[in-house]
Amino acid sequence: MDRRDFLKTSFYLSALAMVQLTGIGCSRQSETAISLLGLPPLPYHNDALEPYISSRTIEFHYGKHHQAYAANTQKLIAGSKLEKLPLKEIVQKSYGIKDLVPTYNNAAQLFNHDFYWESMKPKGGGKPQGKILQAIEQSVGTFESFSKTFSESAAAQFGSGWTWLVKDGNQLKVINTGNADTPVAMGTIPLLTIDVWEHAYYLDYQNRRADYIRAFLDHLVNWEFAGNNLAKAG
Ligand code: MN
Repeated sequence: MDRRDFLKTSFYLSALAMVQLTGIGCSRQSETAISLLGLPPLPYHNDALEPYISSRTIEFHYGKHHQAYAANTQKLIAGSKLEKLPLKEIVQKSYGIKDLVPTYNNAAQLFNHDFYWESMKPKGGGKPQGKILQAIEQSVGTFESFSKTFSESAAAQFGSGWTWLVKDGNQLKVINTGNADTPVAMGTIPLLTIDVWEHAYYLDYQNRRADYIRAFLDHLVNWEFAGNNLAKAG
């Protein structure tokens, strides 16, 4: 589903109806309100990552899974004190709170997926340049050893989860998080992520997670996004 199709979806329409009911008004403001609800349009068309990630995978992964996390989050925070907060704060404030486990899981997955789509681009991958490369070399070793560490870490995640390049203090590190867990809840700054839940790759790669990870590193990584996140982290 591309952005125009997304704008026809029932989620968008129901959110739009809600925005109009609450009197926010014109279409431009409605689009802003949609992004506050946490399901921004994909940064590229559904088929833009082919042949490495198919439009069919994107239709399900973005159009069904990601959308469900957005809709669930919206439902779970409605009427609560979390309702008006930015997504990152909803994740941080619900982390580790027994009664808010579903809120945390859905909000964290919403954050993680937004971050994942941004972590890729058409004709991406390969070796970065500039400060992000220097930071990797200072903390992790050569770029080749970073690639090996990242691949092995992503392959080794047992069950569902995520592999991240994060800034932890002054160091860059490769870490895994299980299920919905996210670095923003745990005090490190995410720079880049790959989703290793089976729904991210099963239609294209079936059980060959290692091939998906290789395609991500060689052809999809958006190093500009990671570099911008590093610059913002200071
Ligand atoms: Mn996913």
